Amino acid sequence: IDPNYIRNFSIIAHIDHGKSTISDRILEMTGTVAQRDMQEQLLDSMDIERERGITIKSQAVRVDYTADDGQVYHFNLIDTPGHVDFTYEVSRSLAACEGAVLVVDATQGVEAQTVANAMMAMNANLEIIPLINKIDLPSAEPERVRGEIEDALAIPADDAVLASGKTGVGVHDLLESVVYNIPAPTGDANAPLRALIFDSYFDAYRGVVALVRIVDGTMRKGDRIRMMATGATTHVEEVGVRRPAEVAADSLSVGEVGYLVTGLKDTSMVKVGDTVTLVSGGVEEPLPGYRDAKPMVYTGLFPIDSDQYPDLRDALDKLSLNDPALRYEPETSHALGFGFRVGFLGLLHMEVVKERLEREFDLDLLATAPSVEYHVYKTNGEMISLHSPQDMPDPGEIEHVEEPYLKAKILIPPDYVGAVMDLTVARRGTFVTMNYLSQQTVEMIWELPLSELILDYFDKLKSNTKGYASLDYEFDGYKPSRLVKLDILLSGKPVDALSFIVHRDKAYDRGKVLCDKLKEIIPRQMFEVPIQAAVGGRVLARQTVKAKRKDVLAKCYGGDISRKRKLLEAQKRGKKRMKNIGSVEVPQEAFMAILKVD
Ligand code: GDP
Ligand code: MG
Repeated sequence: IDPNYIRNFSIIAHIDHGKSTISDRILEMTGTVAQRDMQEQLLDSMDIERERGITIKSQAVRVDYTADDGQVYHFNLIDTPGHVDFTYEVSRSLAACEGAVLVVDATQGVEAQTVANAMMAMNANLEIIPLINKIDLPSAEPERVRGEIEDALAIPADDAVLASGKTGVGVHDLLESVVYNIPAPTGDANAPLRALIFDSYFDAYRGVVALVRIVDGTMRKGDRIRMMATGATTHVEEVGVRRPAEVAADSLSVGEVGYLVTGLKDTSMVKVGDTVTLVSGGVEEPLPGYRDAKPMVYTGLFPIDSDQYPDLRDALDKLSLNDPALRYEPETSHALGFGFRVGFLGLLHMEVVKERLEREFDLDLLATAPSVEYHVYKTNGEMISLHSPQDMPDPGEIEHVEEPYLKAKILIPPDYVGAVMDLTVARRGTFVTMNYLSQQTVEMIWELPLSELILDYFDKLKSNTKGYASLDYEFDGYKPSRLVKLDILLSGKPVDALSFIVHRDKAYDRGKVLCDKLKEIIPRQMFEVPIQAAVGGRVLARQTVKAKRKDVLAKCYGGDISRKRKLLEAQKRGKKRMKNIGSVEVPQEAFMAILKVD
């Protein structure tokens, strides 16, 4: 393919501004997907994406567009996720492109991830096409939003495309704008092969499949290739493009985006961000890769059935190929047995990974409460990175503890400045600065402990601002804090998997709230179960789960057998999510109760 007729671009935006819907219209209007096969958010192909109505994985698709000039152009379009947890996914997609379509909802205007994504695209030197979407809605204010794009993002918006992903209006303008404004890929067709791996997944039959962007040269079926970072060599079993179904080709040439079937079964041999070259006559210098994603929250994942431990390890290996931000190491808990400590980019990422492990690999898992990474400086001069509260040294050995802080950026209408102040100060936040992006939008910058953010801060922020606030954040280093480990005891015995780290001033309140919550969550047993919250052996709060009185079946008055069976089955299903700790049955919710502050 002549690179002059190739256009590679990502579609980026704040969550829900309509990226996936615009992608749908492009697939439809270019005839890539037949009308009868069309469904909403077609590129959101995972079950979790469809159920939640969000994009989690970027999707690359080849689209052929016959432009008004009569030429056929080959677009490689990448639909990206908008949630802050998946920023890393977006950054990788941008590295495969020359341009980005920045979608802004005409009823919402510029929000936190609009700013974050626009900055990423600028830093990657991409040509940005602003698109004001949802102009079919009566509450659309395209002119106001045009002003916001210029004021808040410093992106000229005179030529912004006005569109509706719903009706398709403006999508033709967008396609023409892509042809004229996004540069064709540059790169040397005659140079040795250099291709960037920007995504990958495991296929049970074909091994690792990598999504690549050819930067120089050509990749042909049968070529002997080498992964520059891992040193793995193999031959090209198949190459092709996704439309979005895979269509094989003889080769991928300079500027193209497509898939590469490596045949490699060892998932550690293919790294996202790595460079593919030829074994003979290849290059010496790899392409600049990606910054490694740094996990923000950690949780313990334990198989409910301990026989599934090896399956969980295997599943994590395979999933991490498709999700390079995933980190894990083995963890042992007295209460829960063998499992893994897994690092995530945020709580949504954590939920998604747990769900994908359960669905795609058929596992039943129990997750412990998320925690951040603490730095514990010991009196003997040693520093330990603590991923799990249960590894906290004795208070006598600790010199001081530091916790991770974020620089948080909150975009809100001016009326809600006070509400954000109240909430964020109560969460140990420090106000940094505030400025008006436009008359309707204020940007507030805060320093906030990450541990407070993961305690439903975002939900509270949304509800305290009638849904108007949007939030973006980045890691901002470690700071000393007066932190203690809070232990939870069931029947007088500490349960390691329920302990967590908390600021000293909040230990009493949090301990009390948690005991009350656990009392509701832990089902009655044959005996009374005392619940205690303690710091350093001192009990701060206490509750009791009373002993069970009657059998559940007693309710059924004999007669209806099928109802009895249903009840028993429901009970059995409920049990699956329970873990016996000592002699107490503890359900999954107990571990997440820590996240609810009030
Ligand atoms: P994404 O998160 O940016 O990918 O957004 P989606 O494409 O999933 O769209 C989010 C929601 O907005 C969905 O309910 C869409 O149906 C709706 N939506 C998207 N584009 C339009 C539009 O142009 N007009 C209207 N009225 N709704 C739209
Ligand atoms: Mg989407």
